[in-house]
Parts: sequence; C-alpha cells; structure tokens
Amino acid sequence: MPNEELDIEEIYKISRNLKNIGWLDLTGGEVTTRKDIIDVLKVIISNIKTLLILHITTNGQLPESIFRVVKEIEKFNIILIINVSIDGPKEINDELRGGKDTYIKSTEAFKALKRLKNIYCYLSCTISEYNINHIEQLLRELKHDVTGFSFSDIHFNLFHHSAHFYKNQDISGLSGVDIAKAKKYFNLAKKGNFIKTFLEDKFIKGFDKYSQGNRFPLPCRALKSSCFIDPCGEIYPCGFYDRSIGNLREYDYDLNMLWNTQKAAVVRKSIEEKACLGCWTPCEAYVGILGSIIKSLTM
Ligand code: SF4
Repeated sequence: MPNEELDIEEIYKISRNLKNIGWLDLTGGEVTTRKDIIDVLKVIISNIKTLLILHITTNGQLPESIFRVVKEIEKFNIILIINVSIDGPKEINDELRGGKDTYIKSTEAFKALKRLKNIYCYLSCTISEYNINHIEQLLRELKHDVTGFSFSDIHFNLFHHSAHFYKNQDISGLSGVDIAKAKKYFNLAKKGNFIKTFLEDKFIKGFDKYSQGNRFPLPCRALKSSCFIDPCGEIYPCGFYDRSIGNLREYDYDLNMLWNTQKAAVVRKSIEEKACLGCWTPCEAYVGILGSIIKSLTM
C-alpha cells in the first residue's frame, strides 16, 4: 500500500479536504497513462470549489488520450493550461525521450490542442547540457512543422535535479550549459498574452539573480502556499527539496492536519534557513511571484 498510487477514493478524500486551493499542477510521468484520469480530474474539480487554474503537463506521446482528457475538462468553468513537453529537434527528442517519433507525436498533440478554443496550450522545453546546442534546430523544425508557430507558443525552463520527482540526481544535467545562451531563449519566449509575457518577464528577472548565486530570489512559498503531493500521497515542500513531511494516508487524507504538525514546522524552518539546494523553475517561481504580488497589494 505505501508504494501504491492513490486510488480514486483516496483522491476523493484528499480533494474534499483541500480548502482555498486556486492553482493545481498535475504532472507525471504521463498523466494520461492513468486509465481513470478523467474521473480523477472530475473528482478533483468538483471537490475543490476554489480551483481557478488547472495546469497539466503532458509528454504528448498519447495524442488521442490527452485530447480526450482536455475535451472533458474544458467543459468545467476553470482555466485549463496544457504544456506539451518537447526537448529538441526530431533526433534529439527521440534520444532524450528514449522512443521513436516522439517529436512528431508531441507536435501533433500540440497542433490538435491548439485548435481548441477554451484552453491555453504551450510547448515546453527544458534546457540542459543535452539539448542546449540543438535549440536553434528545434525552433527551425517547429517553424516548418507547426503552421503559424511563434515564440508565444513556447516556454523554456532550466534543468533541475530532484531525487523524489525526476529521480535524476545521478546525472549532471547542466555541465557546460551557457547561462547567457539559456537566457536568450527565455527572452525569445517572452511573447504572447499579457499573463504569459508578465510571468516570463518576472521569471527572467528572477533568473538573473538566481544564476548569480542568489538562490530562490523571492521569499519561497513552499509549505506556506504550496506543496508537492507524490502519487502515493507523500507530501514534500516542492518538486526539488527531498524532505517529506509525512504521508496523507497516515493523516486521514487531510492535508490541513499534516500541514500543522511539528515535522512540517521543522521542514518549513529549514527552508527559511536555506537548507534546500534552491531552485528557479516556473512551477515554484510562479507561486513566489504571485505570492509577492499579493503580499505587496495587501501591505
Ligand atoms: S527554494 Fe526551491 S527547492 Fe527550496 S524549498 Fe523553495 S521551491 Fe523548494
């Protein structure tokens, strides 16, 4: 049981206890490989009355499945954001993703989703030592293969390590990555609607500080406004700090109970004392950016 994914009844109990959640990120692995994913999403959306934004990351390798999921969820009155991962031009994407035609499937999924009216859909590229020298080629191929492709369609991120999320702690990832070059691509993607350009702009400004060794350049909101729930109900501060505060199964599926334990307080304090390795990725950065804005409006 501890190593088994939460089933739909457990997800029902967890989501029923979630109060004041406005933004939910769902990521994998690949969410569409879960057979009951549509029911899971319906349970979550129905139970979390305050949910405003649902953000799903997909690898796009099952285009029909992600399309079916999105068609169901777009019926709900929430903002749906879909990121389709793509990490390089055809050959590099296949190599990094360990499959065949992965680039083609991702771009096909993106094109199909882009035709839908009620969602925001982007391509998402994580820059690392494995693809930094192939981004120009990726952009050329996207311009050729995706009709109307523009920089407003893409978002760039930087490789990070995570033992509990990506399980990539044993590979280097950023060795020799030219930060100025990465920043050039971040800047190219500062296009699109107001919210995208605003968040990309803040992300780049924060990245400047982060890359100069200033760690998370805003007050980190992990375990204050946000947390990471793994597939088995284990709660971490975020996707990177590998320090669990406990498992929801042991707290009657009630995050509020777990949130207020002594252990949670100790981990929260350790974040303030910068015990984590630090990070700057959109998943965590956007919470910090929005948290800082809300704080400045309410002071
Ligand atoms: S700074 Fe980053 S790694 Fe550290 S706790 Fe905050 S979100 Fe997690």
